[in-house]
Amino acid sequence: MRKTFGILTSGGDSPGMNAAVVSVARYAEQCGVKLMGIRRGYNGLLGKSENELNDIRQLRSETVLDILDMRGTYLRTARCEEFFDEDVLDKVAEDLEKKHHIDGLVIIGGDGSYRGALDLCKRGVRCVGIPGTIDNDLPYTEATLGYDTAVNVCVDAVRSIRATSRSHDRPHVVEVMGRRCGDIAMRTAIATGAEIVIVPEMKWDLRDVIRRLNEQITNGNARATVIVCENAWEDGNMAEYPWRELLCKNGICVHGDTPFSSRHMAHVLKYECDIEARATVLGYTQRGAIPTAYDSAFAFEAGHLAVELLLNETPAENDGFAIGVRDGRVFHSSLRSAALKIDPRPFNEKLYNTINTLPYLPREDDLILIAAGNVKK
Ligand code: ADP
Repeated sequence: MRKTFGILTSGGDSPGMNAAVVSVARYAEQCGVKLMGIRRGYNGLLGKSENELNDIRQLRSETVLDILDMRGTYLRTARCEEFFDEDVLDKVAEDLEKKHHIDGLVIIGGDGSYRGALDLCKRGVRCVGIPGTIDNDLPYTEATLGYDTAVNVCVDAVRSIRATSRSHDRPHVVEVMGRRCGDIAMRTAIATGAEIVIVPEMKWDLRDVIRRLNEQITNGNARATVIVCENAWEDGNMAEYPWRELLCKNGICVHGDTPFSSRHMAHVLKYECDIEARATVLGYTQRGAIPTAYDSAFAFEAGHLAVELLLNETPAENDGFAIGVRDGRVFHSSLRSAALKIDPRPFNEKLYNTINTLPYLPREDDLILIAAGNVKK
């Protein structure tokens, strides 16, 4: 009998999700497999819409061919609270088999979506995960779909910011995404020559940032860039540093429970380093970009492999497959170990220290600036 597969995108959207959908659709068609597109992540499996076509509809390759480099996700995405409920999961697994006759499911999403997929595997659903997240926070794989694109967005933005920083001789704090993974921040910092990088993997201290920036300024570099990963704020040794008092004293009202942010850091640097500093949060621009060639190519290979695995391979009991990159090549591993992050990837501490300790050697321009006493605000 002709096989039917389903595909969905779940969790945070990431560039390349559409390219993976196209790849699965094309190869499924080539193999004579019918493909159903499930809309709005796991929500599309709950059978809630009055019109079923709003949740699940057939995807033909000619329908989706033009979405290859489309931004966002064509299938839409969502978070689905009901998926934590065992009874809902039982019903979804039953419907997939008996109502929709779906023999295998491709899930494009992050670790949360993988855990949802694993719950379906335990109920006999064959699942393959494609790592769709810009954060690169799945340790089993060197790269996730959208990570390269997000880094390129950040690099582009930081280059622009560094140009204006140079024009004005003032430092800049740039906040990038990554959840609890500092990969976007690290790669952006290396690629742009940023002087300071702050990531959740490493404890840091605001006093060190002030010291480092002051050193740079003294050597004539008044345009240093501080790259911060979004969730690194809480890893800073803030309790010992009176930043609230400092800002309040200087007329910036912060309450006792105000969390530290890139804007606050720019203010603190202004008073502690005696220089006008600025802050930019790059935010969702990192999610909505057109996929780079790397992400599009990864999506193509991952989609192809997903169909192959569903057609020809049997996973271990209660497990599925997760596609990733190892030693630069697309491969597959156990969905369980991928979802539960069983093999943590070591953080590159050496590189982190290199970025954060690299001295600035003054150029002729800088010496003139220093001599003119023109470095500070
Ligand atoms: P991401 O996939 O980007 O990590 P989330 O963590 O928000 O995004 O997860 C996406 C969806 O996956 C959730 O809304 C939920 O439907 C499902 N999910 C997450 N964790 C679990 C879990 N432990 N069990 C079942 N489903 C889960």
